[in-house]
Amino acid sequence: MPVFTAKDFNDHEQIVFCHDANSGLKAIIAIHNTTRGPALGGCRMWNYESEEDALTDALRLSRGMTYKSALAGLHYGGGKAVIIGDPGRDKSEALWLAFGSFLDSLGGRYITAEDVGTRPADLEIVRRATPYVAGIAEGGAGDPSPATAHGVFLGIRAAVNARLDRKELKGLRVAVQGLGNVGYALAEHLAEAGAELYVTDIDELAVARAVRQLGASAVKPDDIYGLEVDVFAPCALGAIVNDHTIDQLRASIVAGSANNQLAEERHGRTLHQRNILYAPDYAINAGGVIWVSHEGPAFNAVAALAHVERIEVTLAEIFARARKEGVPPEAAADLVAEDRFLPDREQAA
Ligand code: NAD
Repeated sequence: MPVFTAKDFNDHEQIVFCHDANSGLKAIIAIHNTTRGPALGGCRMWNYESEEDALTDALRLSRGMTYKSALAGLHYGGGKAVIIGDPGRDKSEALWLAFGSFLDSLGGRYITAEDVGTRPADLEIVRRATPYVAGIAEGGAGDPSPATAHGVFLGIRAAVNARLDRKELKGLRVAVQGLGNVGYALAEHLAEAGAELYVTDIDELAVARAVRQLGASAVKPDDIYGLEVDVFAPCALGAIVNDHTIDQLRASIVAGSANNQLAEERHGRTLHQRNILYAPDYAINAGGVIWVSHEGPAFNAVAALAHVERIEVTLAEIFARARKEGVPPEAAADLVAEDRFLPDREQAA
């Protein structure tokens, strides 16, 4: 299995393979880039089908974190840890302590956090072996979802301005897919701004609540894509812009909180060709990570919120660059991020 020549290697600085025979720990810590600061990124525990899949996941996710942090103006680099194992069966105190001691040996070059398959209770154990754990500190910033929703709302405003040349959201038709922690809070912001809401969720109670409290129109899950709306806001699943859905889209803008919205890169190019403006997910959904980055004993909600609000400016910059260079916004977002972490192109963010 190649590492330095792996397809997703992408100039990673360091990859650490960790094994502890006693606890059965098998983990990969990938540090992509530390130009802006220590590599920050969650620890995922997953029953990977192969070691190659685990390595690929670590490489892709850590690279994504470099771009996300740089775009968000955080003084962190990108990293990610993956633990190979079944989160329902293979967790133990010994495993988390062993993971923590590997983390500690990196001296703070990588800071871990929660991700798929890991919970705060797991990280509490890791924390006994190392201080390099985020998201469970005293002075915690609390649930990041409202900050994520606030950032997505402002990102939609930037997209509406760029694509529809409108500043006001009153009367804007928005289809929200997923009324969970982020989607519902986003719908509240949009309702307050006077938008016309179409909502769906597989949880009928969530839909009923939005209809009752926000005056939204309920839509069946499969019907959300084909609505004649201005904005499609995916706030549920990843890979939602795919071969099955893309031809149904009638919206002028795709902008929501879900991670990895484009099933493949080519779907972004298709949106671009069809003049559907896509707000790159890692730029628009960064509110939560920005919020959490402020946590600590001196947590200041006003400063954290002001930082979240810069998402609107960052997205405006991305859309302007995309237009100028004739590339899709996700390609422009990468360029804006790279300006901030590649030493020879670095600018003050
Ligand atoms: P959540 O689990 O609270 O909400 C997801 C909602 O989507 C649920 O109500 C669920 O019933 C609904 N859903 C699932 N499948 C669906 C389907 N097929 N059709 C319609 N609805 C469906 O999650 P969340 O925290 O609100 O996050 C939403 C998305 O945003 C996720 O993709 C998440 O990765 C991403 N995200 C969240 C944050 C955050 O701060 N919470 C930050 C960045 C990105």
